[in-house]
Amino acid sequence: MSSKDISKELITLLKEIRLPMFREYYAECARQAIQQELSYEQYLLELARREYEVRRLNMIERLVKTSKIPLEKTFDTFDLNRLHLKIRQQVKILLAGSFVDRRENILAFGNPGSGKTHLLCAICHELCRQGRRVHFASCDLIVQQLLRAKKELELDKLLKKLSRFEVIMIDDFGYVKQDREEMEVLFTLLAHRYERGSMLITSNLPFSKWEVIFKDPMTTAAAIDRLVHHSVVLELNVPSYRAEQAKRRKYKDE
Ligand code: ADP
Ligand code: MG
Repeated sequence: MSSKDISKELITLLKEIRLPMFREYYAECARQAIQQELSYEQYLLELARREYEVRRLNMIERLVKTSKIPLEKTFDTFDLNRLHLKIRQQVKILLAGSFVDRRENILAFGNPGSGKTHLLCAICHELCRQGRRVHFASCDLIVQQLLRAKKELELDKLLKKLSRFEVIMIDDFGYVKQDREEMEVLFTLLAHRYERGSMLITSNLPFSKWEVIFKDPMTTAAAIDRLVHHSVVLELNVPSYRAEQAKRRKYKDE
């Protein structure tokens, strides 16, 4: 078999069995292997590594895309030093991801602009990098989705679909019009999710004000109880990032 025929068949087969990195690099790596006197195994290992890395990156990209997390809210654009030491330590532990295996929740509280959304989104990005299935939604959006499903008698189906995500982030919890029906579907989601999977929640409302969301004290207590039972609470007691940036700009201009 001539080397031309070998290449031709190899390229066809590698395409057929979907090994794009093998196809792209087998010749180049073979030249290097000869030059550097690498063993057959080392040559194969180099190609396998390239294939694996590309697949891993594609998987992460897919997970991030389907999660609907805002793309720019990663740790690359987040200044962790703005947070208190205790929170930074908590975040470091959370990034290991084992809280997801234990189906624990993260609840982030703090005044508007303190970085709750950005911080939890950045954690979600890291979880995607670990290969975890994440779903991001604003509270408003998920409540509307649940209401629509309920109206169409498909609430169970939607809850089941959502239960396939290991992590659900609900941003701005309680920030909806909150009539009784909205509150009810939100409570149904919490109850269904309880001990089934992690929830990451940001809220401007401290627990003491959650009666505004759930209307009566019993439901409020039941909702808080389910969320807090297995959870890590992050209290972001820092000034608004936006306000601080604006102040800095003003200071510079003067
Ligand atoms: P919250 O959800 O608490 O209201 P956000 O996370 O939406 O606050 O933050 C408000 C804005 O400030 C966003 O644009 C966010 O990217 C930015 N921001 C907040 N905290 C930080 C931080 N520590 N480092 C970088 N940007 C930040
Ligand atoms: Mg927010």
